[in-house]
Amino acid sequence: MQHQKVRVRFAPSPTGGLHLGGVRTVLFNYLFAKQHNGEFVLRIEDTDQTRYVPGAEEYIIECLRWCGLNADEGPHVGGPYAPYRQSERKAQYRQYAEQLVAAGHAYYAFDTPEELEEMRSRLKTEHNPSPQYNAAARQQMRNSISLSAEETAALLEKGTPHVIRIKMPQGEEVGFTDMIRGHVQFNTSTVDDKVLLKADGMPTYHLAVVVDDYLMKITHAFRGEEWLPSAPVHLLLWKYLGWEAQMPNWAHLPLILKPDGNGKLSKRDGDRLGFPVYAMNWADPKTGDMTTGFREKGFLPEAFVNMLAMLGWNDGSGQEIFTMDELIARFSLDRVHKAGAKFDFEKAKWFNHQYLLHADNNRLAELFMPVLKEKNVNASPEYVATIAGLVKERCDFVNDIWDHAFFFFQAPETFDIAAVKPKWNADKTQFFRDWASIVEGLSDFSATSLEESFKTLAGSMNIKPGELQLPFRIMLCGGKFGPPVFNIAETLGKHETIARIMRGLDAINA
Ligand code: GLU
Repeated sequence: MQHQKVRVRFAPSPTGGLHLGGVRTVLFNYLFAKQHNGEFVLRIEDTDQTRYVPGAEEYIIECLRWCGLNADEGPHVGGPYAPYRQSERKAQYRQYAEQLVAAGHAYYAFDTPEELEEMRSRLKTEHNPSPQYNAAARQQMRNSISLSAEETAALLEKGTPHVIRIKMPQGEEVGFTDMIRGHVQFNTSTVDDKVLLKADGMPTYHLAVVVDDYLMKITHAFRGEEWLPSAPVHLLLWKYLGWEAQMPNWAHLPLILKPDGNGKLSKRDGDRLGFPVYAMNWADPKTGDMTTGFREKGFLPEAFVNMLAMLGWNDGSGQEIFTMDELIARFSLDRVHKAGAKFDFEKAKWFNHQYLLHADNNRLAELFMPVLKEKNVNASPEYVATIAGLVKERCDFVNDIWDHAFFFFQAPETFDIAAVKPKWNADKTQFFRDWASIVEGLSDFSATSLEESFKTLAGSMNIKPGELQLPFRIMLCGGKFGPPVFNIAETLGKHETIARIMRGLDAINA
């Protein structure tokens, strides 16, 4: 058998913000494709015009770019199977729907919305609260199965609005081997006669996904577990269209669950519990409501991606931090769990913290600049990079840098005098006066040299250096916080350090 090139696809509908579960689907697609030297396709499934949201496609592409999970083919980059937007492929779907009708696997249905409503309320019982258009109902409705060939032809002739539905067989067992779940089996009687082609000529997801996966030569299809109940429809379509041998291998990815494990994690859970669920900020174009994304919350993309990889997968070794290359090398579907993965925001923060620790300080400075700009602070990138290096171990997010480093950008206006006063005396005032003038003359203003001269002078004056360091810190920062005090001084520079000592002394002695 000829070896087929691996081709996978991410097929989002452009309906709003991109849920982290969607990004994880992208990631698994991407890892699998890269591991097999395959191709990763982005296909926009926009056939449901009622759910289409302007801007959502560009937003999805930007999310992928931010995460470093770029597609090899898609509406933004083109490719040999273009167009990659289903709405632009509209013309090709009808022929397949008609082919199914001709073969007796699908039929025209002329029912009006009122007639469908009437059927639902007529067949509704306590045990069947939402009756479906299935083998039983089919016979009582207006379609090319219940009507004669002449009646049907007449209705079509008149241009009567109609849809094309799949004719689900009764009592057949269909199944397939899911790459994560193993063999999955369904009885066709449990599935209704799904619409394949709508009255406006647009295909539904069910038809479009099969046609496009076929035409785009997709070999492996990863999608959320919520699509598993639709699988029998798709299996039958692959079979009825005569493409069974080319059907992709399916993997239905486990859900991402709420932190308490009770159901699927939704955007509302994020709002309620105060963490992001979307990859990036999403502004609802209708209401203008803004939902915060992981990017804007301060996540580094590689931390976000690493965290997602571990939601439902691990390599069995206990390792949690992986570079993208490691993920590509080690990812395996055998190790994807079948059960849903609980989302844990504290753990997500931990991942980000790990990546912040190892991030290049210049990069952190660049990411932090907008925060400074917002606060009207002017500082050089080099200065901000040094500060980022000093405080990053205390931060979970880039934006936390401010809370741990604000005193580098503005001199303290108040001092925690109460922390100093009880042990304060004239000798200590003298110490700081003398030390300030020593510092004035220091040619080496490094933390080490500062500490050395500080300790030498303290020793000669018989004061414990430990008793002087807290007052020094309070002079520089205003309170009992911040990184090692001599590093603060070195970063602030000679002039500013001396000025703060003087102002601090005034405040303490006032
Ligand atoms: N358009 C579907 C969705 O947004 C895609 C499902 C699939 O990957 O087949 O969930």
